Amino acid sequence: MTLPPDHAPLLPKPCSKCGSPGEVTKSGSNRYWVQCAKFGRNGNCNAIGQQAASRKEAIRNWNTRH
Ligand SMILES: [Zn+2]
Repeated sequence: MTLPPDHAPLLPKPCSKCGSPGEVTKSGSNRYWVQCAKFGRNGNCNAIGQQAASRKEAIRNWNTRH
């Protein structure tokens, strides 16, 4: 039996560029995205996922792109 995608574990994959953990970031009440732990001033990686209206979708955006 295969679980539908919505029931897949919702954890960001490690960054495909540097291997650092993906971090879910939130802005306001309904803007979520995942960015590399070494993104921006935390390091020198530029990996960032597309914004979404839910945490789940943001993680999915990150995971499918990476
Ligand atoms: Zn990275």
